[in-house]
Amino acid sequence: MFPFGDVNDFKIDMGQEHDLFRKSVRQFSEESLSPIIMEVERTNVIPQAVIDKAKDLGLIGIGVPQEYGGQGGDMRMLAIMAEEVSRVLPSFGTLLLVNHLFVDPLMLFGTEEQKSKYVVPVAAGRALAAHASTEPGVGSDVAGIKTAARKVEGGWIINGRKAFITNADRADYFIVSARTSPMDPQARWRGLSTFIVEKGSDGFNIGQKFDVIGLRGEQPNEVLLDDVFVPDANLVGRAGDGFKVIVTAYDYSRILIGAQAVGIAQAAFEMAFNYSVQRKAFDKELASFEGIAFKISDMLMDLEASRLLTYWAAYLADQKRPEFYMASSIAKTYSTETAEKVASAAIKVHGGAGVDHRTGVERLLRDSIITTIYEGANDIQRLTVFRSLLKMVSKDLEAS
Ligand SMILES: Cc1cc2nc3c(=O)[nH]c(=O)nc-3n(C[C@H](O)[C@H](O)[C@H](O)COP(=O)(O)OP(=O)(O)OC[C@H]3O[C@@H](n4cnc5c(N)ncnc54)[C@H](O)[C@@H]3O)c2cc1C
Repeated sequence: MFPFGDVNDFKIDMGQEHDLFRKSVRQFSEESLSPIIMEVERTNVIPQAVIDKAKDLGLIGIGVPQEYGGQGGDMRMLAIMAEEVSRVLPSFGTLLLVNHLFVDPLMLFGTEEQKSKYVVPVAAGRALAAHASTEPGVGSDVAGIKTAARKVEGGWIINGRKAFITNADRADYFIVSARTSPMDPQARWRGLSTFIVEKGSDGFNIGQKFDVIGLRGEQPNEVLLDDVFVPDANLVGRAGDGFKVIVTAYDYSRILIGAQAVGIAQAAFEMAFNYSVQRKAFDKELASFEGIAFKISDMLMDLEASRLLTYWAAYLADQKRPEFYMASSIAKTYSTETAEKVASAAIKVHGGAGVDHRTGVERLLRDSIITTIYEGANDIQRLTVFRSLLKMVSKDLEAS
């Protein structure tokens, strides 16, 4: 069992409410997202009408308590939403999930005033949000953030540049990380802070759009901060605690990237299987060739292993088990790499049709590659897993 305690640590419990919720998200995805897949690929824009529909259905507020404008629900429900939406249109999954990278830090570290002013409108679907951490020179190394916030009477002045910010061109509110005291080389993570910045603040601008290989319709932007004033009331958590605020939010959100990847792998698997029983080569269905059958069985094995890991991590998070953050790195890494592998295999099963844009399989590979990079590249997840393991071992040694 090492490093876990006993067999109960591997339990995943799902109720009827999870099943009913899955059915309703699937219905929304198939009725509202399926018809726009090719339009989004072509235009690189997600139609506002579909975003409004998701807001009306309360999808943005899933996982947020009702007293803060949300629908309630747990991490397993959020994972179900991420999986089902991403099975059809992964970029729409990203659009919904990024709001949680704003809401979660406020729910975990924010004041009651911040929750009622900012979480409520986002969870109720009246506003959208974004998370601005990455910079042109800093991604994985969160502690290396250069954007700076200077204390002034009544607030802070922020200067800096953020890169690859999802939802930036739609968001009303942003959580922005900035350095509030000089870097201590012995403890680089110290001295960061997080702030809420409203769209339209003086000196706050959305810069160039990045043209990334996948997630069409949800391409990130630069965010430029030039002497932006934010009041003291918009500091999230204590000054200097920004690193903790950011990485704690990622502990939860990377479970949802795992779920997004499960959705992508599910779509690729279904497409490959369906094609293999329809397409004929040498006068026989593709599925009758062992080489194809092996490929499809391997896809299913990896897909189901990813699903189990993802819902296991979500269940541990719902149980508030401390091991969940290690499980979330395992789930994110395994599932996103599975999605990439399964999408690539699905293209091969389709032969020439697989690389024809109109078939719609190759977009799954492009989308899956991004999941291996954002919200903590998988190399960083591997480091997190190993460091968590060392921490667990040293705790055991202290206790013995
Ligand atoms: C489509 C998209 C949307 C995004 N949305 C957002 C967003 O909304 N908000 C936001 O803040 N950011 C966002 N990002 C940024 C994303 O989180 C970063 O790209 C990611 O964290 C990796 O950082 P980086 O690109 O700077 O790569 P780097 O940190 O430069 O890493 C480059 C490579 O080196 C590896 N590497 C780095 N350090 C180590 C190490 N110590 N050990 C081993 N390997 C290492 C990495 O795994 C990677 O393979 C988005 C990115 C993309 C592509």
